[in-house]
Amino acid sequence: MAEPKETRNDLLGAYVTEKLAARHFDAYYCPTAQQAVQKAMELIPEGSSVSWGGSMSIRDMGLTKALHAGNYNVLDRDFAPTPEEAAQIQRQALLTDYFLTSTNALSKDGILVNIDGTGNRVAAMCFGPKHVIVICGINKITPDLDSAVARARNTAAPINSIRLSKNTPCAKTGTCHNCNAPDCICAQFLISRICKPAKRIHVIIVGEELGY
Ligand code: SF4
Repeated sequence: MAEPKETRNDLLGAYVTEKLAARHFDAYYCPTAQQAVQKAMELIPEGSSVSWGGSMSIRDMGLTKALHAGNYNVLDRDFAPTPEEAAQIQRQALLTDYFLTSTNALSKDGILVNIDGTGNRVAAMCFGPKHVIVICGINKITPDLDSAVARARNTAAPINSIRLSKNTPCAKTGTCHNCNAPDCICAQFLISRICKPAKRIHVIIVGEELGY
């Protein structure tokens, strides 16, 4: 018999998947990260060009490693020898067949919320790559849009500031102070309330905690 927490995650995952589908996203629920990697690999035909944004979730779950090992044209800025070449890969990533990213938050009625510094990740979510695959750990689902924005600002962004060793107020206090610091990573805010064209964005909700 499943544990109550697993059952709750399965129920919530199925509920939010339906809400995403009603907003024209191509949505799936996978109970485990391993199953989510399999689902993402099923969605990407061999030979496709693939890139991704600065997501810890897709790295931690082994998805980027699986793509490097497969028959794909992978554009990975982490292997660029210079910052200029990394920036060039970020631009080329906007014309790939598949762009992978996590999300900072997902409201239970199916709205994605993301904050970006450079803007390459949210740009790709809006327009450019033929397909976008969004991986969302169950920990990122929030009761509504306001709490999704609050999560992105007060949880995801401060942790990312600390991870990236930024000189920002949130990196010193653990919460957002709505700063304008030169190191601020919150330049662009994206609210994706429907998917257009329909099913361009594939969202895989994972019944495990992933990323932050
Ligand atoms: S303090 Fe600045 S960098 Fe930190 S979360 Fe707020 S706006 Fe973003």
